[in-house]
Amino acid sequence: MKVSIISLTCCAGCVSSFLNAGEALLEILSEDFEVVYSPTFADLKEVPSVDLAIVEGGVGTKDDENLIREIRAKSRILVALGICATHGGITSLGNMFALRDLLEKEYSLVEKTQLPELEDLMYPISNFVDVDYYIPGCPPMPFLIVHTLKSLVSGKEPPRNQSVVCAECHRKIIPAKLDRLYGVYEKESDPTLCLVSQGFICLGSLTRDGCGAPCPRSGFTCFGCRGPPDSMMYRVRDMYGFLIKVIAYRTGIPSETVKAELYRNPFIFHTFIFSKFQRSIAREKVI
Ligand code: SF4
Ligand code: SF4
Ligand code: SF4
Repeated sequence: MKVSIISLTCCAGCVSSFLNAGEALLEILSEDFEVVYSPTFADLKEVPSVDLAIVEGGVGTKDDENLIREIRAKSRILVALGICATHGGITSLGNMFALRDLLEKEYSLVEKTQLPELEDLMYPISNFVDVDYYIPGCPPMPFLIVHTLKSLVSGKEPPRNQSVVCAECHRKIIPAKLDRLYGVYEKESDPTLCLVSQGFICLGSLTRDGCGAPCPRSGFTCFGCRGPPDSMMYRVRDMYGFLIKVIAYRTGIPSETVKAELYRNPFIFHTFIFSKFQRSIAREKVI
């Protein structure tokens, strides 16, 4: 299988995660998985036709848009890797501001002339081309990437994850009686209880499983990097309202108070970007 690995506008963390797969990576890099094009590893100019294209990053420039269209035309299977490619992700945080304001504020006149031609917004790749499989995560865990690619190499459908992070976390969920929410740095957490039941803003109940819940297992809140699960895509239109209900139930804090606290917490913006573009994604193709 001939493979290309492409980075659009991103931090390159997803390809790094793939390379972090250790021995599993060696298992997959064989004659059945031959990387023939990757600007990260080799200085090739011509995009070749391949069986499988793995794309990280979102579409933020006209060059990205042209490239993703060319990649699609030259690939049999196209995989969107990481939440920038699948949903917009961190790179789409700039969508909260007008492009003109961002350019005025962040770039000098000289820098502006050196910028590539920008899109009006940062988009996931599905806004421009058909995607065969989505592997959300920021970055997706190495084992998730390798398992998916192994299935594709052997011609099988990759196994899908359709539950939520809470199912992998193993903390006990209880309805508590609290009077406020907490940042993870404000108090020590009980390692056995659900972080939301202790007043921390964990998004595990709104987030697709498959990562193994490394964040809540180590005492840190899930920030939703796997995007919404099947059960919430399309059906739950107000994810923010849903989160407020979950927190109010598990903490005993009135919904209005929870809402006010969430709007004060910039961490939540980091997380809820994933729901912005979910309607452009085919649910059946999310791993
Ligand atoms: S999904 Fe996260 S790790 Fe991957 S490219 Fe985007 S910001 Fe980087
Ligand atoms: S909300 Fe977070 S801490 Fe609570 S059970 Fe779910 S993943 Fe675990
Ligand atoms: S626990 Fe949440 S933030 Fe952490 S890797 Fe999983 S989905 Fe991402």
